[in-house]
Amino acid sequence: MDERLRKHAEEAIGFMPEEEGLALYEAGLRAGKVGPLLEIGSYCGKSAVYLGAAARERNTVVYSIDHHRGSEEQQPGETFHDPRLVDPSTGVVDTLPFFRRTLSDAGLEDVVIGIVGESGTVVQHWDTPLGLVFIDGGHSEEAARNDYACWAPHVMHGGLLAIHDVFEDPEEGGRPPFLIFRQAVGSGSFKEVAHEGSLRVLERV
Ligand code: SAH
Ligand code: MG
Repeated sequence: MDERLRKHAEEAIGFMPEEEGLALYEAGLRAGKVGPLLEIGSYCGKSAVYLGAAARERNTVVYSIDHHRGSEEQQPGETFHDPRLVDPSTGVVDTLPFFRRTLSDAGLEDVVIGIVGESGTVVQHWDTPLGLVFIDGGHSEEAARNDYACWAPHVMHGGLLAIHDVFEDPEEGGRPPFLIFRQAVGSGSFKEVAHEGSLRVLERV
């Protein structure tokens, strides 16, 4: 991966260890030959830089969806709350300015297309076949199940479905991403092609 972009990704606020980010980039390179890339869960743009680097090399784009109000566990008083991300004028979480800043600093504004909205609403109007869907949005069981059920059908044959925060051991983290990973494999439509930390990459077969 381009050294400069790798540095921007590393410096961005977010939840993606470098090894996993590089595996996501590799998945993006492979999937970018099939079609455009899409992620659910932009946050401050960290994973978008890894995917954006791949999209740039493949002459395609990344759609990055987030309502930018944070997940349940990122709200004030919760474990993953970051007070820097609260808009002082409203007192609520707003990651959109950070996302924009990350992408402009990285020079990826022409490649990463931010979509501000609820994943479940955006998908109702989605009609573009995708090379890759990366699920890293809400981690409640309902949110994860919906993201899988609604977005996975848009992955083209030979395209990839990547899921973050998949922990086999319940001691290490929440269940829902693991449950949808199992559901995808169990459906017979996807087979695992890469595994790095909590990132799983599946190909539509
Ligand atoms: N990919 C990011 C981390 C994403 S954190 C990184 O690399 O650092 C999860 C994000 O999902 C949060 O920003 C939250 O606002 C978003 N999110 C949660 N539920 C959502 C929903 N239903 N629709 C859109 N975005 C959602
Ligand atoms: Mg994550």
